[in-house]
Amino acid sequence: MKFATKAIHAGVQPDPSTGAIMTPIFQTSTYVQESPGVHKGYEYSRSQNPTRAALERSIAALENGKYGLCFGSGMAAIDAILRLLKPGDEVIATADIYGGTSRLMKMMFEPLGIKFVFVDLSNAYDLESYVTEYTRMVWLETPTNPLLKLLDISIIAQICSKRGILSVVDNTFATPYLQNPLDMGVTIVMHSVTKYLAGHSDVIMGALVTNDSYLNEQLSFIQKAAGAVPGPQDCFLVLRGIKTLHLRMDRHCENAIKVAQWMTSNPKIGVVYFPGLESHPGYAIAKKQMRNFGGMISFELKDNDFNKAIEVMQRLELFSLAESLGGVECMCAHPASMSHGSMSKDNRAKIGVSDTLIRLSIGIEDITDILADLEQAIG
Ligand code: PLP
Repeated sequence: MKFATKAIHAGVQPDPSTGAIMTPIFQTSTYVQESPGVHKGYEYSRSQNPTRAALERSIAALENGKYGLCFGSGMAAIDAILRLLKPGDEVIATADIYGGTSRLMKMMFEPLGIKFVFVDLSNAYDLESYVTEYTRMVWLETPTNPLLKLLDISIIAQICSKRGILSVVDNTFATPYLQNPLDMGVTIVMHSVTKYLAGHSDVIMGALVTNDSYLNEQLSFIQKAAGAVPGPQDCFLVLRGIKTLHLRMDRHCENAIKVAQWMTSNPKIGVVYFPGLESHPGYAIAKKQMRNFGGMISFELKDNDFNKAIEVMQRLELFSLAESLGGVECMCAHPASMSHGSMSKDNRAKIGVSDTLIRLSIGIEDITDILADLEQAIG
């Protein structure tokens, strides 16, 4: 099945009891058993829920994976992966990952005896020099949040699989429509479903997909034992959102490239971070492993003045100043105080997140209105 068909049909079927074409919201905590242990495959909604099961099948299919698992947030999905580790293990993570991910790693898992090494893997072969006998996992985000750096997934996955190291890709920014890391040899794909998969800024959720049955067993156990599961109503909303993922992503990409091109010719704008620009250092990798360049752009004003950057964000009207991304509407964010606010200023400076950096999530509104809003705010 091609992507657009999978987005609409994979994992779902008309409800056998009523013929309802949409998967019902099974708003139930428990399921009646005929006698102890004799049931229809569902016992208690922390372990299994039919609405969630349909969504898990759908997301797995979109990522060309066998097993999908949904969690109450992207962070809960990341937490489940990190629970696979034990004291003494080492994780190599790329430096400019989402601030919440590095916070979870450093503040909650480092005290448990797990070591995290944050490095730049723009040159994928550099990974070899960071691997030790204790390296158990490599954590990638590509494109990264917020600097849109690109990492060569297949080279990194190959190095990991040769050495028996788990490789994880946070595929939130690209979505399965633009990039399928499992096809490139990665062990686990993670999503903040909150973003493009849900797509309408109305749900918080996370998901994991793998082809490895043993890992799936371990992660399913963590999902059930720790219990960070999403509710059926949220699963329904995401099932609905996914049906238009391909259409939304096409428009996000189409609008973003026009905004990026407009920015490069604007004398008031300095650096533009967008992997679809040939001048972007990750352009060749993006061409190789992505089907399009996504809807996220970060930029800095030419004079790098903090107050002017804040004024631009305040003047924007169509773009809402908000923490999230990947919804149908345009949003702008200030990474230094929002997504990366939990990082120290020094650490932000090390990874290149300046106080004047502005991140845009380009929506699917009419491009003339989007450009007009940027024009009136930036000049
Ligand atoms: N990964 C990335 C790349 C994100 O941008 C975010 C949230 O912004 C997360 C993970 C965490 O996901 P959630 O907010 O759904 O917990």
